[in-house]
Amino acid sequence: MPLLRLVVCCCVAIAGVSAQIPSPKDVLGFKPGTDGMLADYDQILAYHQKLAAAADRVTYEVVGKTTEGRDMVSVVISSPKNLARLDEIRAQQATLADPRRTTPKAIRTAVKTGKVVVLVNESIHSTEVGPAQAGMVTAHFLATTKDRKWIKVLDNVVVVLTPCHNPDGYATVVGWWNKWKDDKKTRGVGLPVLYHKYVGHDNNRDWFMLTQAETRVTVTEMHLKWKPQIVVDQHQMGSSGARMFVPPYTEPYEPFVHPLLRKQLEDLGRTVLNAMKKDGLKGVWCNRRFDAWTPARAFMHYHGGVRILTEVASARLADPIARQRPPRGDAGTKSTDNPAPWKGGRWGLDDIVRYTSRGALLAIKHGADNREKWLKNFAKIHQDFCDGKKGPAAYVIPRITNTAANQLCDLLTLGAVEVSRTTKEITVGGRKCPPGSLLIKNGQPYFGFASALLENSPYPVTRGANGRMNRPYDMTCHALPLLMDFDVVRATANEIPAEAKPVVAAKTLRAQPTTTRAKGRFGLDPNDEGSYIDVLTNLARGVGVKRVVEREGASYPLGAFIVESDEFQLRHATPVVLGSWLSPSGRGSRSGCKVETLKPRRIGVYWSWTASMDEGWTRFLFDGFGIPFTRIRPADVRAGNLSDKIDVLLFASVDRRSLVGGPRDRKLPEEYRGGLGDAGQQALKTFVESGGTMVTMNASSGLPMQLFDLPVSRGSSFGRGGRGRGRGGENRVRTSIPGSIMRARVDVKHSLGWGGNEMTPVFLREARPFEIRTSEGDATVQFPVRYATKDVVLGGYATGAEVLHGKAAVAIAKVKKGTVVMFAFSPQFRCQTWSTYRLLFNALLQ
Ligand SMILES: [Zn+2]
Repeated sequence: MPLLRLVVCCCVAIAGVSAQIPSPKDVLGFKPGTDGMLADYDQILAYHQKLAAAADRVTYEVVGKTTEGRDMVSVVISSPKNLARLDEIRAQQATLADPRRTTPKAIRTAVKTGKVVVLVNESIHSTEVGPAQAGMVTAHFLATTKDRKWIKVLDNVVVVLTPCHNPDGYATVVGWWNKWKDDKKTRGVGLPVLYHKYVGHDNNRDWFMLTQAETRVTVTEMHLKWKPQIVVDQHQMGSSGARMFVPPYTEPYEPFVHPLLRKQLEDLGRTVLNAMKKDGLKGVWCNRRFDAWTPARAFMHYHGGVRILTEVASARLADPIARQRPPRGDAGTKSTDNPAPWKGGRWGLDDIVRYTSRGALLAIKHGADNREKWLKNFAKIHQDFCDGKKGPAAYVIPRITNTAANQLCDLLTLGAVEVSRTTKEITVGGRKCPPGSLLIKNGQPYFGFASALLENSPYPVTRGANGRMNRPYDMTCHALPLLMDFDVVRATANEIPAEAKPVVAAKTLRAQPTTTRAKGRFGLDPNDEGSYIDVLTNLARGVGVKRVVEREGASYPLGAFIVESDEFQLRHATPVVLGSWLSPSGRGSRSGCKVETLKPRRIGVYWSWTASMDEGWTRFLFDGFGIPFTRIRPADVRAGNLSDKIDVLLFASVDRRSLVGGPRDRKLPEEYRGGLGDAGQQALKTFVESGGTMVTMNASSGLPMQLFDLPVSRGSSFGRGGRGRGRGGENRVRTSIPGSIMRARVDVKHSLGWGGNEMTPVFLREARPFEIRTSEGDATVQFPVRYATKDVVLGGYATGAEVLHGKAAVAIAKVKKGTVVMFAFSPQFRCQTWSTYRLLFNALLQ
C-alpha cells in the first residue's frame, strides 16, 4: 500500500507541473528586476518558449536571423480563439490597409470583426536592459491572468511581442555585465565595443534606409506582416529627470504623419499617463524632448500605425541608484504633462520593469477598449493615401546613379511603396526624363512614406509650453534627394506615362549582386558609386585597373576607370563601352588622355578601444558592398611596419585625445586600454612618409593635423545643437547644426573630386569647418571641397551656418611620399549619405 500511494502522489505531482504555466522565476531562478540579475538572451528565449508550450494564449515563432546569426523571435499573445485564426486576422488587416483591392463592405466587416494588433518591442538599445526583463513579466501576465477584464482585452487584440529587438547587442551587454559583476572594482564598467556588430545605438536610426539585418526582419516580419495599429517601442532614458516618458511627442511632427495618428498618439499617450498616475506610478510625463520628425525611428508612422515610445529612467544598468531630491525644473513640477512628479528615492531595475510592463499593458488595453475606433481610423488613413489628394500625381526621378537607384528601389519597395521604371522618354515640368527613370505614383497606401523621404520638408521652429524652442531630438533632414544626391520632379496626372515596368521588392539583405565578368576592354563611370566599389574590391584581389588622370582633348570623363583584365569581377558597376564616351565630332581620339595604373589598395580601418558608431558604420559600408579591409588595433599600429599589412588607413570619427591616449574610463581593465601613444604616432608617421595614405573623418582629422604639423586646424567647436564658443568675432554667433545638409563646392578637376558634381550636398551634425593657418598659395595642403560662399543650408534646421561660408570641408596634404586626406565631416554617416561616398572612395584611392 505505501508503494502504491507514493506512485499516485508522483503522478499527481507530474500532472500538476505539466499543467502549470511557468513564471519567469521558475525558468530563470530569479524574479525579473532583481538587483544585479539579468536574464541573458538564451534564457529569455527559453522562458518564452516554455511559456508558449504551456499556455494556450501564447505562440512562439522564429522570424529571422540577426547579423551574427541569432534567432529573432515573435511571441504572439491573444485569446485561444484568435490564435486559431491568425491568418484570417492578418488578411483582415490587409483588407483595411489597401482599399484598392477590396470593397467598402469587406472593409466594414473587417472593422466589425477584426482585431487591433499591438507590436511591443523590447530593448533595441542594449544597455537599456529593463524592457527585455519586462517583456517576460508582460507575457506571463497576459498568459495567466484570470481577470475577466483582461480576458476580454485578449479577445480584442493580438499582441506581437519582440522579446529583445537587438539580440546580438543584448548578449554582448549581458555577457560583459556578468563577466565583471563579481569584482567590486570593475562591476558596471562601460563596454569598450559596440553593442551590435556595426551600428550600436544607431539601430533605430536605420528604419528608412533599411540596411541592417535586424531592420529588415523588423520591417518585413513584424510591421508589414502584422500591420500593427499600435507599436510600443520600449526604451530607457537618463536617470536624473522624470521616471517615464510617453507620447504625445513634442512638436514638430513630420508633415506626412497622418493627422489621425497624431490624434491617436495624444489620446493613447494621455490615457496611459493618467492610468499610471492612478496606479501610483509617479513621475510619468509627456510632450517633452522626444519629437516625431525623423522617419528614421518611426516606420509605422508612415504605415498606418502609431509609434508609442516609452522611455523609463535608467538605474546603473542592473544596480539601483538613489536620489535624495526630486528632479529639477519641469520634471519636478506638477503640470498636465507631468501630473504626479517623482519625489526622489531609490530607483532600481525592479522599478524599470514595473513601469515598462505597465506601460505596455496600458497601451494594449487602449487598443482593446477602442478596438473599432482604431480599425476605422486605420482604414481611413490608408483610404486617404489611396485617394491621392495629398502631394503630386507622381514623383519622377530622372537623374540618379545606377547603384544609388538600386538602393533607393530596395528601400522604397521594402517599405511597401510601389515603384516602377519608365520605358520611354517623358517630359515632366519641361524636363526630359530618360527611359528607366523611377516613377512613384500617388494613390497608393504608402505614398506618404515616399513623400516623407522624397520631399525636402523645411524643419519648422516650434516652441514648448515654457516658450523655448523645441530642440530637435534627431537629424532634421531626411530628404533622400539630398542624402543620395539625385533629382526628383513632381509630375501632374497628364505627364504620367501609361506604361511603366514595376520594380519588385527584394526581401533579403541586399540580395548579393551576382558576379559577372566582361571580356575585353571597357570603362567604368566615375560618377557611379558601384564603379568604385568594384574597383576597390578588384584591387584587393590584385586585379589591375587604370584611371584617366588627364583628359585634354579626349572625351573620356576625368577619373574614368579603364579595365583591361578578364579577371575583373563586376558586381555593382555597369560596364561602359569605351566608344560610347567618344564625342561625336572628335571621332574618338584618345590623344591627350593620360591613363595611369592604380596602386594596390589594401584598406585598414582603425579600431580604437573607444566604441565608435562611426567606425561601425564604416565597416558596414565595406562589408555591405563586399569591399575587403583589415581592422587595425592600437597595438598593431604601435608594433610598426604598417605598410607590410595595408596601403591606406582609415580613421572614423573619434577625437584625437582618445585616439592617442585611449579610453578614459579608469575602471576599464588593462587589456581594453591604450591608444596610439608615442610609439603609435611615430609608426603612423613612418607609414605615411614612406608612401602610405591616411584618411581621417570628422573628429579624427585633428590627429594628422597635429602629427604632421599641417597649416590647418579643425577650427572652433560648434556643438551639436549648441552654441558656438569660438574666439574670433564671427564665431561668436550662435550656431546650431543638429543633423542638416549643407551645400559644398567640389573641385571636380582634383583627383578627390573626380566623377563628382560641382555642387554636392554634405550632411553635417556638427559645424566644425577647417581653419587654414597659412596663405592659400601653400602647396602642401589643398582644399578640394569647400562649403558654399552663400546660401549654404540645403536642408534641415540650421542657425549661424554662415560660419561655414567658403570654409574648407576637405583638406589633402602630401607628406613626403605619402598622402593625408582629412574630412571635416563624416562622408559615410550612418550609411545614409550617399552623396559623399564618392569623395571617400576617391580619398582611399589617393
Ligand atoms: Zn533607447
